Amino acid sequence: MKFEFPADKISAIRSLLSQPKKIVITTHHRPDGDAIGSCLALYHFLVSDGHELSVITPDEAPDFLKWLPGSRQVICHDKNVQPSETKVKEAEIIFCLDFNRLDRLDKLSDAVSKSKAKKILIDHHLDPETSFDFIFSHPESCATCELIYYFITALDNAKVISKSVAACIYTGIMTDTQSFRFSNMTADTHRVIANLIEARVENHVIHENVYDSYSEHRLRLLGYCINNKLKVLKEYKTAFITLSKEELDRFHFASGDSEGFVNYALAIDGIRLAGFFMELDGIIKISLRSKGNFSVKEMAEKYFEGGGHKNAAGGQSELLMEATVEKFITTLKHYSKELNACGLT
Ligand code: 5GP
Ligand code: MN
Repeated sequence: MKFEFPADKISAIRSLLSQPKKIVITTHHRPDGDAIGSCLALYHFLVSDGHELSVITPDEAPDFLKWLPGSRQVICHDKNVQPSETKVKEAEIIFCLDFNRLDRLDKLSDAVSKSKAKKILIDHHLDPETSFDFIFSHPESCATCELIYYFITALDNAKVISKSVAACIYTGIMTDTQSFRFSNMTADTHRVIANLIEARVENHVIHENVYDSYSEHRLRLLGYCINNKLKVLKEYKTAFITLSKEELDRFHFASGDSEGFVNYALAIDGIRLAGFFMELDGIIKISLRSKGNFSVKEMAEKYFEGGGHKNAAGGQSELLMEATVEKFITTLKHYSKELNACGLT
């Protein structure tokens, strides 16, 4: 599937960008590969045009994304509150990438919502808020990075896609599709990837940087999760893993170490729903994944103050771990019929 960016909106943005502007590019808190990839791809695309550009994230990206070109330019709001809020206040344009509601910016959301800048949303989550001046929302797209590809080629088809732009877009598509495996990874998305490889992206190096750069602690934590912490509830076609703060400390947990753990629970034959619960900053952070028709987005929104996509969503709980798991199991009881009827697509 190719994604359309209406000509009238693109020409309005092209004229906004025709003079050097103060631009902020931002994304959701706890940024992942698609979030950081889309911000840095757009940064590299615009940087040669003389704009005053800042990439500002609510908090830091995990270490396995730090090799991305431009990473060192990223300003984390939580560590630079005043300078980043001043930039947001003075910005003339704010690009909001890979999220659908301003509250996904966490402590940065106030400053962005108060800013007088033109706000441009490019995203692939369902149901975007309407508080943006331009909305490019394509929930059928596998990654915001795929949309960034269409956006920049619509803006300036003549501009050569640099190796840096290509690396950032490739990383976002690769990480949001678990290495190109989902049904939203269409022939056209593969064509985008082919164009990136033609733009000299070093695909094998990116896979190595992201998937073969974990710490020994992370691997041992994964082993512990699978051996000691995985619970399988066959009656609900569900499997889940919990990790307390004490366990995280024991394995010297660093941000990003638990990336992908939830997918191991989903890899068991017959399992349709997987959960991962982790005690972080005094709350329980929840990751949910599903196969087939079962919507974890709905479950996350309704019961865990979260959201996301049909098959990948997240949320949180302010209850203790035990009570959170109890609530999760009670929730499974509500969905028992659906989970058991749920076929694979
Ligand atoms: P993850 O489980 O990898 O943290 O997130 C999976 C998906 O759910 C991502 O698309 C992410 O944007 C979304 N998501 C994760 N946590 C939250 C949350 O607390 N609120 C909302 N609205 N979406 C979330
Ligand atoms: Mn995404």
